[in-house]
Amino acid sequence: MNKYIFVSGGVCSSLGKGVAASSLGALLEGRGLNVRMVKCDPYLNVDAGTMSPYQHGEVYVTDDGAETDLDLGNYARFTTGPLSRANSITTGQVYDAVIRKEREGRYLGRTVQVIPHITDEIKNRITAVTKEDPDNDVVIVEIGGTVGDIESIPFLEAARQMIHECGRSNAISVHLTLIPEVAGSELKTKPTQHSVKAMQEMGIQPDILICRAPAMLEEGTRKKIAQFCNVDPEAVFTSYNIATTIYEIPLVFFNQKLDLVILKKMGVESRHANLKAWFSMMEKFHAMSGVVRIGIVGKYMELHDAYKSVYEALFHAGLACGVKVELVKIDSTPLEDAAADTAKILGSEGRNVDGILVPGGFGQRGINGMVKTAAWARAGKVPFFGICLGMQIMVIEWARNVLHWDDADSSEFDQDSRHPVVSLLEEQESVVNYGGTMRLGKSETVTEPDTKIHAAYGESRVFERHRHRYEFSNKYRDEMKASGLTLAAFTPGHTLVECVEWPDHPWGVGVQFHPEFKSKPIAASPLFRDFVAAAKVFSAERS
Ligand code: GLN
Repeated sequence: MNKYIFVSGGVCSSLGKGVAASSLGALLEGRGLNVRMVKCDPYLNVDAGTMSPYQHGEVYVTDDGAETDLDLGNYARFTTGPLSRANSITTGQVYDAVIRKEREGRYLGRTVQVIPHITDEIKNRITAVTKEDPDNDVVIVEIGGTVGDIESIPFLEAARQMIHECGRSNAISVHLTLIPEVAGSELKTKPTQHSVKAMQEMGIQPDILICRAPAMLEEGTRKKIAQFCNVDPEAVFTSYNIATTIYEIPLVFFNQKLDLVILKKMGVESRHANLKAWFSMMEKFHAMSGVVRIGIVGKYMELHDAYKSVYEALFHAGLACGVKVELVKIDSTPLEDAAADTAKILGSEGRNVDGILVPGGFGQRGINGMVKTAAWARAGKVPFFGICLGMQIMVIEWARNVLHWDDADSSEFDQDSRHPVVSLLEEQESVVNYGGTMRLGKSETVTEPDTKIHAAYGESRVFERHRHRYEFSNKYRDEMKASGLTLAAFTPGHTLVECVEWPDHPWGVGVQFHPEFKSKPIAASPLFRDFVAAAKVFSAERS
């Protein structure tokens, strides 16, 4: 069938374009269509891998090891289609490819220009997603940025060309805008009118408008928007503020018949909608009772997006365990201070936590605060989940406090340590380029019997994604094991340690991979689920 839906945004950023595009994907999947999601990012970085969380939030990793925009995480949580390197297109990649071809002489002496060469490269990348996959019905292409940005122009131009070439029933434009409230109660449509004008100047007439508004737009307002913006009144939808969860948005759109209007515009025969999974997820949401407080100890605590998939996975685990997860964000840097009272910071002052999670991270700042946190949780038998850097912290803490190697560290943080219990693999030592050179993407982990990780997954072969450079050092494997640390999972052939667990502890598990990337609201990550279940038990015993 090969239909395209281009999702763009106007008025301002952060309107939830990624969630809107993902929800649209969920709705069309509910109608039995085979959907693929693509993100176009207008920055010059080749991928998000080298970007700081302060700039960009989390880096989402795909099975094939692409380091992508966090919107791919939204796609993965709302839809089921495969996501790979091909689903994330950046201006950097596009220019890189075009310039390489130019250097190879493949343009045969012609002048290389934004139109047609850059736009052709964009179009080729978008259509490549469907070429790989003959079963594909619809590709939803989210264009990053806001209409009017200089950076987005080539992507919008490529969309315009595709709409023109494919015909209006095969390629449509969905535009997301904001309806602000002025003076307390008046909803203003003018910014939306301007935003649609900006789209029209780009040669694109939006077919569907999704308006972010404080509440459901009234009939009169929708008609006014329709009239000023050249769209059908039934094609104006509201994405109103909801008090529940972003995962209700597919149902919010479903109730307004967004999917039916899209099917009609694309000339697809209406088919039965099956959104059972989403309705039952919302039932679980409303049935949650009680609260567990999970302390997240990391260094980007003020930025909600830096640990986005981790926070979402905790919410999914709460749904699975029937309990609301409250996030207690704790900056590890103040904990580093020798005088800082760990017990006070983590355990009291209204912060009483039922579990601690140390997420992934890079760089020295805050590390010793994380080590102190792990020591506190191990001694206090507080459920603890270490992810990637968090597992490395568990290893360092064990070496320092159980084996009494005071200077034990990761060679990422102390190159002179006499006990580099976490260190580089030889193949990483010669790496000079930072982009895309870590251990990245899906690989196999073999779990040992009678371990918490084995209990969580219920099987010995597990496939999760990696994004790190440093490893548990095999040089110390025997001493670690002899001193009681459980080495609970390995890469096939026992080559590398993938998971450590604390003995005599209700739930202290660290994994070298990132299980958060595969967690979904309708299927929580097994490790997150068991961690929250342990926190729930801890909370019940404490009160
Ligand atoms: N900095 C650590 C490493 O590179 C951990 C990375 C991570 O947590 N993603 O190995």
